[in-house]
Amino acid sequence: MADPRPQRRPIIAIDGPAGAGKSTIARRLARHFGLLNLETGAMYRAFALKALRLKISLGDGPALERLAAETSIRLEPGEEENRVLLDGEDVTGLIRNPAVTDAASQVSVHPRIRAWMVGLQQQLGAAGGVVMEGRDIGTIVFPNAEVKIFLDAAPEVRGLRRFDQLGPAHNAQPEEVIRDLRARDERDRNRPDSPLHPAPNAVLLDSTHMTLEEAVAAAQAIVIAKLGSAGSQP
Ligand code: C5P
Repeated sequence: MADPRPQRRPIIAIDGPAGAGKSTIARRLARHFGLLNLETGAMYRAFALKALRLKISLGDGPALERLAAETSIRLEPGEEENRVLLDGEDVTGLIRNPAVTDAASQVSVHPRIRAWMVGLQQQLGAAGGVVMEGRDIGTIVFPNAEVKIFLDAAPEVRGLRRFDQLGPAHNAQPEEVIRDLRARDERDRNRPDSPLHPAPNAVLLDSTHMTLEEAVAAAQAIVIAKLGSAGSQP
């Protein structure tokens, strides 16, 4: 007899520091296995953009909490990147610059901001069928995710990848990009609430010496080992 319990589709959690290749790998996994790709960092970025616009101090937890109470953030999965709606405004193209990047890591330190974001992310992924990437997906947002991958790479390699991504229009030196990335890592790993660390049952994938294609293939192999070749089936 069929199991009467409602089954949700699988959740693949991808966590790791900046520049490890999470976004690209999450997008490729989602496409390959027919899942939705959700980038949780974009939500912190959108909220940080609002705080910057309103000149709210990024260290002022209570003020940020009041701001959160009157903020709506929506994440819509897309083929390439997620579309991010901040109070109904499409801010997708405004959240990847260095100022917003740094501000996102500062607002994400505050426990009440995190609790709000985690609630939104749990709603988004409740039905499963998603690849969700961030810093705390396998540890806090979906500790019961079927697949957890912790993606890492040496800081210099991550910094240089980020430098290449930024392109010539961004007139920073590679050393500056590596320094900013290390500062963000440090904050993400050492915050008291939900610091970045691998879940105990996460599979570690170090892409330092891998090409992107090799890292994608390794991630696909991890998913198949956990879920079988059908990947997205319940
Ligand atoms: O992944 P992305 O670089 O877009 O994330 C921006 C910042 O948002 C990170 O540096 C981190 O501080 C924060 N973040 C987080 N938890 C997540 C996703 C992002 O704290 N799940």
